[in-house]
Amino acid sequence: MSLNPPSVKDRTAVIIVDMLNDFVTGSLKCDRAQRIIPPMQKLVEEARKKGVYVIYSNDAHIKGIDKELELWGDHAIAGTPGAEVIPEIAPTDVDYVVPKRRYSGFYGTDLEILLDELKVNTVIMTGLHAHMCVRHTTADAYFRGYKIIVPTDGVESFTEEDYLNGIKYLKEVYGAELVTIDELVKRF
Ligand code: ZN
Repeated sequence: MSLNPPSVKDRTAVIIVDMLNDFVTGSLKCDRAQRIIPPMQKLVEEARKKGVYVIYSNDAHIKGIDKELELWGDHAIAGTPGAEVIPEIAPTDVDYVVPKRRYSGFYGTDLEILLDELKVNTVIMTGLHAHMCVRHTTADAYFRGYKIIVPTDGVESFTEEDYLNGIKYLKEVYGAELVTIDELVKRF
């Protein structure tokens, strides 16, 4: 059974999780993230062209306060270059940016209000890390009833094992449809 209609254009948002300097090249650098940059550039370009919303869910931590920093060390501190989206897929005027301070892009943020206002019913989950922030954000999207699509070339993790476990969990537990970005943009 397919969870998705033939066209996903009208009420769909691409959600880009933590594609920030600190996660790609900075303090929590992930070399594997390089693999997903070219397909993600294609995804955001096609999305903007075809009127699919692009929403950035970005870590923006408060130094000395956020609990997560005890576990991971300082990263993506609000207002620093490390907390900015990597230049290759930087947000434009037509996109939305929603800061977060926890793994989930929904927890204590405006994301749900925004998706309601945009009347979105399907989310395309991308970014870092498939087994962590993408997973927690997808969990919250699932709890709220959104259809979920995950491009396998649009998410990554620190290791192959984490990546494979991550996408398997998203598929099995949240019913995420796994696709490639090439397949996906044809439906826009
Ligand atoms: Zn964080």
